[in-house]
Amino acid sequence: MKIIDHIKESNGKTLFSFEILPPLKGLGIQSIYNGIDPLMEFKPSFIDVTYHREDYVLKKRADGTFDRVSTRKRPGTVAICAAIQNKYHIDAVPHLICGGFTKDDTETALIELNFLGIDNVLALRGDPQKGELYFEPEMGGNKNALDLIHQIKNMNSGVYLDEELTQGVESNFCIGAAAYPEKHMDAPNLSSDLKYLKRKVEAGADFLVTQMFFDNQHYFNFVNKCRENGIDVPIIPGIKPISSRKQLLALPKVFNIDLPEDLVNAIEDCKNDKDVAQIGIDWAIEQCKELIQKNAPVLHFYTMSKSAQTKTICEHIF
Ligand code: FAD
Repeated sequence: MKIIDHIKESNGKTLFSFEILPPLKGLGIQSIYNGIDPLMEFKPSFIDVTYHREDYVLKKRADGTFDRVSTRKRPGTVAICAAIQNKYHIDAVPHLICGGFTKDDTETALIELNFLGIDNVLALRGDPQKGELYFEPEMGGNKNALDLIHQIKNMNSGVYLDEELTQGVESNFCIGAAAYPEKHMDAPNLSSDLKYLKRKVEAGADFLVTQMFFDNQHYFNFVNKCRENGIDVPIIPGIKPISSRKQLLALPKVFNIDLPEDLVNAIEDCKNDKDVAQIGIDWAIEQCKELIQKNAPVLHFYTMSKSAQTKTICEHIF
């Protein structure tokens, strides 16, 4: 079922969903189920599965020099989505990225998803390759999320890359895209980011999922700005419970977000990461209560495939 239909059918009730990562190469599917099972009692409407492009690692040769070897550390997004739908009968939302994909690779992935009965995709550009400052598209690949959305919409109309292929099967993907209440790190300002966000919606994004934020006011202001700019699709807030002190440094840097002073002070006063995790839970509970009160369509949790904090939060809010 499409995410937008889940939201329509909820009649204003805030839904629950979460994101998981494919396991590191070498781990089995059970490691995924272990992260999902404890959250099933809260009836998730959908589960997102992230996509990870290849990484380069340096392997030392006998002569002391290094080979740059490409490796995919977390493969399996499409297969995990199929496994989730098969086992739990819950919609799985694969993330699709431009980085590392030619348009042909993307078409193949979309065909596979369509065969598997997967109705939703989250269309993303992807981050720059490790060690690179700017995002470089694959040769013959989509250069940003907007291009990717165009490709998915084309397939929804039966238009494939091969121009000689006429009367191709029309897919019917519901398309999600990313949104950044505190602006995307590449954008010179929020207005510019909103301009391109609007283009993604005009091109066919049916819903948006936000980057994590820790001050709800960022989300409320952002939703207002989107509405003023004619962006009228559901905007799903992303929630991340903080779990360790080192995230004080990592989260602002990696995700271009601010951490509120009260949260930072509370974490700095903690003796260990167990205490930090409790602060993370308490903070997220307060965020969620307000988001529910103000009719957020869905609360979407970044679980990193670890369910303990999200489970405790859900026990308090659902
Ligand atoms: P885009 O929408 O393409 O935008 C990227 C930047 O370019 C923005 O600053 C935008 O303002 C600007 N821009 C867009 N179009 C133009 C244009 N025509 N001219 C000039 N500037 C333009 N990454 C992964 O690798 N795997 C994942 O599974 C994954 N999941 C994510 C899930 C969510 C909910 C979110 C919020 C992010 C996720 N990411 C993931 C990270 C994402 O790939 C990065 O944030 C990436 O840097 C941008 O992706 P995007 O789809 O927002 O890009």
